[in-house]
Amino acid sequence: MSSNIRINRICQQCGSEFEAKTTVTQFCSDRCAKHNYKARKRVEKVKASHDHTKVVRQRSLEEIKSKEILTVSDVAKLLTCSTRTVYNLINNGTLNGIKFSERKTLLRRSDIERFFDNALQPLPPRPEKPLDIKQCYHMGEIQLKYNVSEKALYDMLKRNNIQKTQRGKFVYVLKSKVDQLLNPKIK
Ligand SMILES: [Zn+2]
Repeated sequence: MSSNIRINRICQQCGSEFEAKTTVTQFCSDRCAKHNYKARKRVEKVKASHDHTKVVRQRSLEEIKSKEILTVSDVAKLLTCSTRTVYNLINNGTLNGIKFSERKTLLRRSDIERFFDNALQPLPPRPEKPLDIKQCYHMGEIQLKYNVSEKALYDMLKRNNIQKTQRGKFVYVLKSKVDQLLNPKIK
């Protein structure tokens, strides 16, 4: 690079403006260059240490995955939760644990898998909240308003899975639902 050129630059380390002698100069001084180099090394070291931790953690996870009998701490790592949580799951009967000795509780991998199988069962449907009659039509009203037959109305409600509620001899559904279905102008 020619030394005749003068370029105004911002030092990457201290942020002050300086005249660079080459197009690749990044620092105003040797001091700043050294400082920056040290800082970069420090970052690299920290990253290397993180990477190492990751590798060790990964390796121990691989080991756990190949085991048939697991400790509480193994299970905590597998489920990424605390050992306290695992003990709670054992104590409330969600997970099977075997008290192997006074200080050691063991679990079987198959039990952990069963735990997940059970957890994957679909939840029972939520009970529907009772409808507020004030916000409802009864069937006769809908038939009159929208000029539909009783059968057509019931079919439509069923098809669209609209909640009905019976009070006395009347069956009610939410006005908003019915209007949405039968009067497309209302959104
Ligand atoms: Zn500087």
